[in-house]
Amino acid sequence: MMYVSTRGNYPPVTASQTIGFGMVPQGGLFVPQSLPHLPAEAYRDITSYQQVARSVFEPLLTDFTDGELAQCIDHAYTPLNFDTASVVDMVDLDEKRTIMELWHGPTAAFKDIALQIMPHLLSFAKKKTGNTLHTVILVATSGDTGKAALEGFKNAPDISIIVFYPHEGVSEIQKLQMATTDGRNTAVVAVRGNFDDCQTGVKELFADPLLRAQLREKGIEFSSANSINWGRLCPQIVYYFTAYADVVRRGRIAAGEPVDFCVPTGNFGNILAGYYARCMGLPVDKLICASNKNRVLSDFFSTGVYNRTREFYRTNSPSMDILISSNLERFLYAMTGGDSGQVGAWYDALAHTGSFSVDTATRRAIDEVILSGWIDEKQVCATIDRIYRTRGCVLDTHTAVGVALSESFTGRDRKTIIAATASPYKFSCAVLGALQGGVVTNEFDCIRRLASLSGSPVHHALQGLRDRPVLHDRVIDTGRMRETVLELITTLR
Ligand SMILES: *Cc1c(COP(=O)(O)O)cnc(C)c1O
Repeated sequence: MMYVSTRGNYPPVTASQTIGFGMVPQGGLFVPQSLPHLPAEAYRDITSYQQVARSVFEPLLTDFTDGELAQCIDHAYTPLNFDTASVVDMVDLDEKRTIMELWHGPTAAFKDIALQIMPHLLSFAKKKTGNTLHTVILVATSGDTGKAALEGFKNAPDISIIVFYPHEGVSEIQKLQMATTDGRNTAVVAVRGNFDDCQTGVKELFADPLLRAQLREKGIEFSSANSINWGRLCPQIVYYFTAYADVVRRGRIAAGEPVDFCVPTGNFGNILAGYYARCMGLPVDKLICASNKNRVLSDFFSTGVYNRTREFYRTNSPSMDILISSNLERFLYAMTGGDSGQVGAWYDALAHTGSFSVDTATRRAIDEVILSGWIDEKQVCATIDRIYRTRGCVLDTHTAVGVALSESFTGRDRKTIIAATASPYKFSCAVLGALQGGVVTNEFDCIRRLASLSGSPVHHALQGLRDRPVLHDRVIDTGRMRETVLELITTLR
């Protein structure tokens, strides 16, 4: 399997090159040249997450040997990292809806599923491509990716990691989770700006050929752990298959019957993995794209116009507070039948004017696959409260966006699987506020009170967090990311 650029500006590369590069050096994202078909026998009667992962990876990461893939999978998906043997737990909400809990990993958010395996994939990828450079992973995070990437990459050989997050744009717990990370090769930097400032800054560093050449002379290269890296996306395809197999096995649907997946969305990575699962033959009818008040995606899907020049809101689902949804580019590439000229033109327009608009044929293709909508903060809180009172199930604020939106499609009689993207403990104050009213600000109090209210054990990622020493406290202005990186790479090894 070879990977091509969404903008047609780079020759095809292997899977390991894709993972090593992160994004296309000239701008654009790598996508598989075609998607392999996965027969139902590869997942339907199989209860081992690890085994399904192997079936999904083998036809996609074709220059990895089966033994290498098995080694990566076995290191990542162990009881040491995930507190459930099935990696992902499935919880029925009612007759029609099932929650797919993606948050059982070491940082309590779904990004662990990809970031626990990606460092292993990258290490093998470097060996295969004869790459002896020291790799510096640059990450822009709206909160959850940062800690998940730090946990995945800390102390990885020949790799360092630098994480940028918006100074006032993440929760106290998220901030503390990142700031207390140990490991000889980690750095965490707060930026006085929003997530898009962080992401734009990182993208500019990647896209600077002069800087890359300078670093190469010092034996250093940049790579990415953001969801623009194929090594992030590919592992996310797996749980769509295991989730589907679960609802078939438990008789919720007939074998082969299509389901909808509803995904709380920000950068469009998670839902895109669902789309790729659909392309690989998984019986998926619609993918429901759930946005919060930063509804740039739901506006795009309803009007055909992507316009990022709009007000940015900080909401109670901060990991979805995004105006530039990077992975949409890959989806549009697919929707145009691989028209890289068209995709390149749209993203040029986005860079220069802040918006682009797609043609009718593309909109029609999108409507075949996507349903969308957005949910405001009040609805999020009301949903958390109602689901707790009626079902005894505590949702986090991101998951609640998905659950609330799934209720607007009551006319459809598809069974729906909703992605639960974070443990409620990760956003305890917002969740407790929704359940009890009032404003609570001490996150550790919230965790304790939420535990006694819900009766469920505190997530393992958050136990003992309060007592860990803060090791990273740097804060910079948006214009200083480049010099900060240049300074940090001399100290990280
Ligand atoms: C990252 C994140 C999302 C958004 O996922 P994308 O892949 O960026 O669309 C949603 N919820 C939580 C809790 C997250 O951490």
